[in-house]
Amino acid sequence: MTEQTRNFEADTGKILNIVINSLYSDRDIFLRELLSNASDAVHKRKLLGQTQPDILNSDEDEILVAVDDKKKTVEIIDTGIGLNADDLTETLGTIARSGTSSFLDSIEEASDSKNAAKALIGKFGVGFYSAFMVAEKVVVTTRKAGENGANIWESDGKAGYTITAVSDEQPVGTSIKLFLRKDAKEYANLHKLKELIKKYSDHIVIPIFVQSKDVEKEQANSAQALWTKSPSEVSEEEYSEFYKASLGAFDEPYIILHNKTEGSIDFTNLLYIPKTAPFDLFEPERKTKVSLYINRVFISQDVDGVIPTWLRFAKGILDTTSLDLNVSREMVQNSPVIKKISKSVTKRVLSELKKKLKKDEAGYDTFWEQFGKVLKEGLYEDYEYRDKIAEITRAYSLKHQKLISLDSYLEEMADKQDKIYYLTADTLKQAKTSPHLEGFRAKDIDVLLMTDPIDAFWMSQMGAYKEKLFLSISRDKYDLSELSEETPNEATNEVETSSIALLIKDCLGDAVEDVKVTTSLVESPVRLVAGKGGLDFNLERILKAQNP
Ligand code: ADP
Ligand code: MG
Repeated sequence: MTEQTRNFEADTGKILNIVINSLYSDRDIFLRELLSNASDAVHKRKLLGQTQPDILNSDEDEILVAVDDKKKTVEIIDTGIGLNADDLTETLGTIARSGTSSFLDSIEEASDSKNAAKALIGKFGVGFYSAFMVAEKVVVTTRKAGENGANIWESDGKAGYTITAVSDEQPVGTSIKLFLRKDAKEYANLHKLKELIKKYSDHIVIPIFVQSKDVEKEQANSAQALWTKSPSEVSEEEYSEFYKASLGAFDEPYIILHNKTEGSIDFTNLLYIPKTAPFDLFEPERKTKVSLYINRVFISQDVDGVIPTWLRFAKGILDTTSLDLNVSREMVQNSPVIKKISKSVTKRVLSELKKKLKKDEAGYDTFWEQFGKVLKEGLYEDYEYRDKIAEITRAYSLKHQKLISLDSYLEEMADKQDKIYYLTADTLKQAKTSPHLEGFRAKDIDVLLMTDPIDAFWMSQMGAYKEKLFLSISRDKYDLSELSEETPNEATNEVETSSIALLIKDCLGDAVEDVKVTTSLVESPVRLVAGKGGLDFNLERILKAQNP
């Protein structure tokens, strides 16, 4: 028997503390987190078994929750893939997920750290560590499918953990035994556990049994995949529980899309659009959160192309009977079936977002603030959906001092106006004080103030919306004098200003390309304009920052 003692990675202890203290009133969730891990593990074993049949479970898969009300322990036992010693160190020894350090920073900076922690855990998820909310000691006994020998991982959730190799016979799978804290003894109760399983984990498709010394094993969940039910049979609450328990969400969804499509391709989608953006939305290695099932068998969570990257905040499942279980991942990825499903789902999401915008602008703008940046990637790179995304795009209006739609901009254009004027800047404050805006203010012509780094890219890439060209007022040439009667500086003496311009050009020499007289300023003496063929200033700054 070999034993190894290890410390948690630096931030893990800190995070554990935060989790335990700030989620105290939501402690029930420990069970759903552990059951969802158990269910994931069973699915992983089944999936690997497709190519390595010898690791498949020859018995029925199940998850057992065994309680000992005398010893005050709860044990969750699964027939899943199991973990070896390396897996244990990697998965249970760290919470080294992306965003860990920014998580800690933002909690330290927040004035109400408890609520901040709660909100952040919402974005972050707690998973396995939630066990320490109710347990003073956790013992994980596990054997990996296809390997001999088992390991015991043990920790009090404080400084570190030990891993001990055991040689005696162990079934493949994982047991997680919780030694309940003094203040959490109420969980050593069969009825309480049954109630929690029903509430949080009913839809887990693996049967979950409960058992105690005096009560025989009985099934506690209905084990029917939620999405296989007809939408009319599913309550709001069930949808919401599935979103949290199975998809690891902590917020309420903004949109739920549950549809069964029959025809040349049969599939079911249960997709959620969240209200709050997760931490890792812009991490390049982030996987999609849409799982693919073939005829109710879980295939993968990161099949490329099931959903466009600019909808990567969508979470949920796609289940189809139009693909064969035995095809390889690459074949699945490139199959026309997936392309068709993806297309139909994408259209559905976009049309639902459009409906939401129509119904409740303010609510939509809250969504837009979280995910607009991501959707704009579609404007830039996805020719197919560009026009549809543009219809639901919001941009800050100089005139209205709030977000508006591009269509509203078009509706309010001046009589002879045929361009969509925009200004890019790092911040709204910076944009609003720009001298470029003076002429527009004076003539009451609206300008869109764009402050996301990607704006300069998509607007120049797209070129126009409904045939009206986008025009950067800090780069492109324009003449406002045609757009209304009065010119702001009528009193200007042309001859005099031209000679001043010449004089300035003389002084600045090669530092500028040219010096010109403008009619678009009211108060400021000068404005800087990008040179001919030059880049938009903001774009130039972004490019410089990327390639120093
Ligand atoms: P997540 O489920 O989001 O990956 P968790 O903290 O819940 O995060 O779990 C961390 C990891 O530990 C899992 O990804 C998995 O690899 C492993 N794990 C946890 N519970 C089990 C289990 N019962 N069987 C096998 N692996 C498990
Ligand atoms: Mg988990």
